[in-house]
Amino acid sequence: MTEEIVIIGGGVGGTVTANRLVDHLEHEVKADEVRVTIVTDDPYHVYKPIYLYVPFGKKEAEDAKRPLADVVDRHVDLVYDHVTEIDTDGQSLSLQDGNEMDYDYLVVSTGAIPDPESTPGLGPDQDGHHFYGPDAAEELREALANLEEGRLVLSVIGTPHVCPAAPVEFAFMAHSWLQKRGLREDVDVSYTYPINRLHGVRPVADWMTPRFEDRGIDTETFFNVESVDSDEQVIETIEGKELDYDLMVGIPEFKPSPLIEESGLGAEWMEVNKDTLESEHAENVFGIGDVTNLPTSKAGSVAHYASGVVVDRIASYIRGQTPTGHFEGDTVCFIEAGMNEGTHITFDYENDPVVRDETEFIHWAKLSYNEAYWLTARGLL
Ligand SMILES: Cc1cc2nc3c(=O)[nH]c(=O)nc-3n(C[C@H](O)[C@H](O)[C@H](O)COP(=O)(O)OP(=O)(O)OC[C@H]3O[C@@H](n4cnc5c(N)ncnc54)[C@H](O)[C@@H]3O)c2cc1C
Repeated sequence: MTEEIVIIGGGVGGTVTANRLVDHLEHEVKADEVRVTIVTDDPYHVYKPIYLYVPFGKKEAEDAKRPLADVVDRHVDLVYDHVTEIDTDGQSLSLQDGNEMDYDYLVVSTGAIPDPESTPGLGPDQDGHHFYGPDAAEELREALANLEEGRLVLSVIGTPHVCPAAPVEFAFMAHSWLQKRGLREDVDVSYTYPINRLHGVRPVADWMTPRFEDRGIDTETFFNVESVDSDEQVIETIEGKELDYDLMVGIPEFKPSPLIEESGLGAEWMEVNKDTLESEHAENVFGIGDVTNLPTSKAGSVAHYASGVVVDRIASYIRGQTPTGHFEGDTVCFIEAGMNEGTHITFDYENDPVVRDETEFIHWAKLSYNEAYWLTARGLL
């Protein structure tokens, strides 16, 4: 009998997990004792960190995607369809085309969806911009190119949001970009954050605060956006504050696929054990990446490290061994501190990051990693 391992999602978590599984279980896969299948509704693998560079004209949105078939091992089966239902008792999935798929082990890696519409005044045909998707990033490039004076506001609205470093990077990069174009004197840059410091990770807040001051980036904390008035170009907060803008970049709220709640895998985000990544609600089901309720960042590096644990545990179950893989919350983030310098942090459940001074070398290391990513996704690095 062939053991069926099915992975929902062909993003960072799903792809790395599939590639590692066929490598780890090479003997069983070649003997047809194990089959690894990705079912995903996007035939492309998307490397989203590229979107940060699109508003500044440094990358095209197209640069972020490659056909999934080019990124996965040939021993991984691919099914392009949208999963509409997970029956965790019957261990099967329903697909949009009407087919069903059975699984012995299921890995859910369906990501997180930007949800600007949940803030009144944001969404299609409204003022607010973001850079968390290809179209939004390209529209922001257009808007930024046309901004010659006034106030640019970067407002972090939703937490948790995907990639906690990206809004910080955007503010630093916008400052450098405007300066280079000779517009910084004419464009104020403001950054707002919902809690009483500039970032959820305290050492990052401590690092960025004096640097924002040096660059003249205005900041507002305890700034919980309630609505955006596009006619008056004003952001209004729950605390009763108002901030006017000429160009608003709003880091939106994020939501998981409705599949999670509908399948009983979580009240909102997928509820997993933070050490084993196994579902709190269903047997033989694992969660990886942005879809989970893990108490750490929604970042590709987290999905990447978590995949190693899931692969180890599934392989152990299949081989009748006791699984030993445990996730410790490993997270790595490069943080751009402008157009030509950056820093780098690592942290886990137990250890806060130490943020080192930014250097040109780390900026280039980030750009190099963005190219090398395609090898890491393939499992070659
Ligand atoms: C602008 C930006 C900058 C970033 N920068 C960094 C960075 O510097 N470092 C870092 O570590 N991370 C960064 N990230 C975060 C990183 O991209 C995500 O954390 C990562 O993509 C999460 O991987 P995932 O597998 O959980 O989800 P995703 O990569 O989003 O993949 C989800 C997949 O599931 C599929 N799917 C969803 N629902 C269904 C369904 N019902 N049926 C079938 N398929 C489905 C989707 O089509 C997609 O293929 C950044 C993100 C953005 C947007």
